[in-house]
Amino acid sequence: MKAPAFLRRLFRPPLSCEDVNRFIVAYLDDALPDRLRARFEAHLAHCANCSAYLAQYRHTIALVREAEQLPPPPAELADLTLAFLQRHLDAPPPDADAADPS
Ligand SMILES: [Zn+2]
Repeated sequence: MKAPAFLRRLFRPPLSCEDVNRFIVAYLDDALPDRLRARFEAHLAHCANCSAYLAQYRHTIALVREAEQLPPPPAELADLTLAFLQRHLDAPPPDADAADPS
């Protein structure tokens, strides 16, 4: 027999750190239902690790938004960077000769 809804709510287990990780994007998007949001925030109130993780997540989002405001680098810089990478990716590893027995 299934317990009545109010009892299930009353004895609902607290969210785990894994749950917080799973719901963090929905939380930041303000997309969690009220009861889940309350459980999420109850977990944050007693979990320093998840609170720090949420703060770091918010900081990262702010940095990405800030970076989106920056002008793109000059095309010449992108060309030089790609040429540099291509040259180094195509080059044999520094110890290739030492490993080659021929
Ligand atoms: Zn936690």
